[in-house]
Amino acid sequence: MKQGMVLVICAPSGAGKTTLAGRILSEFSNLKFSVSCTTRAPRSGEVDGRDYHFISKEEFERRRANHEFIEWAEVHGNYYGTLRKTVEDALACGDDLLFDIDVQGAAQVRLNLPGRCVFVFIAPPSMTALRRRLESRGSDSAETISRRIANARAELANAHWFDFVVINDDLERACLELKSVYLAARISPVRQAGQINKLLAEQVV
Ligand code: ADP
Ligand code: 5GP
Repeated sequence: MKQGMVLVICAPSGAGKTTLAGRILSEFSNLKFSVSCTTRAPRSGEVDGRDYHFISKEEFERRRANHEFIEWAEVHGNYYGTLRKTVEDALACGDDLLFDIDVQGAAQVRLNLPGRCVFVFIAPPSMTALRRRLESRGSDSAETISRRIANARAELANAHWFDFVVINDDLERACLELKSVYLAARISPVRQAGQINKLLAEQVV
């Protein structure tokens, strides 16, 4: 069976990662959202086990000491991490996974899952547009928005090592670019090796 792959997307907060992730997940049934663990409190509308596994700081630290995370990071004062088991189970049964993680986590995934991932950085069209989107979402204070803008600069400085950069100005075009990356990654030689071996083993005269 074809082993699954991981589509890793990173973006400064407000760049449109959640919007784009929702679009691509709704179009490909084989692509599953990787549910992370976090110590932050659930936001209204978030469901435990669907959006995140919401766990205490003590539980997170216990799991981290047990090496249960394939990557983890502290973001905006809370811990976030991807469970090794989530990844191994999905990839072994041929599902692909979408990781919505920060750049620190993505750098760890690059080391821990070599050859299995494609890394996409999603950037806003301008810092002014980013601020406008954060304001229009209406969920953050002015102070939080300023902190997110400052963090955005640090994250943008990492964009150069990603495989692809999608500029989310026109949503439809950005969506098409993200889907194109995923479709192309699915037919990389590593992913097609099984099919090639099958062809080579076929005896025809
Ligand atoms: P993130 O998950 O990266 O923090 P969201 O997906 O929540 O970002 O998007 C932030 C805000 O920007 C939301 O209100 C969303 O509807 C809006 N948005 C997303 N993509 C675009 C786009 N291409 N053009 C205009 N607004 C957008
Ligand atoms: P939020 O609290 O807004 O859902 O997420 C804050 C940040 O944490 C986002 O950049 C998100 O991508 C990142 N994040 C979510 N889950 C994980 C994870 O498992 N690992 C890492 N490293 N970052 C994560």
